[in-house]
Amino acid sequence: MSTTRPAAVHIGSSSSSSGSDSDLSTTSSRSYIPNMDSVPVTVSVETIRCMRCAASIEVTSTDDPGIYGMVRISTNLYYCDRCAKKTGFK
Ligand SMILES: [Zn+2]
Repeated sequence: MSTTRPAAVHIGSSSSSSGSDSDLSTTSSRSYIPNMDSVPVTVSVETIRCMRCAASIEVTSTDDPGIYGMVRISTNLYYCDRCAKKTGFK
């Protein structure tokens, strides 16, 4: 009886290239434990950069860049609020 083994699966971690983690604990004295058994949501953080003045912000995938004043021009192209006004996008 022969068993066919699958090829060794290499679990590679494709970690994002953005370096800095945000600080987890700054004056954390509250212990908030949600007791709903909610499914953990994976939120990715991406940096949005104004293509005109290079001002950058970090948003999570659940955030709308518009709430930070960033205006999406096309895919992965943004203007900040000031530049959007100057260029007539806003
Ligand atoms: Zn700008």
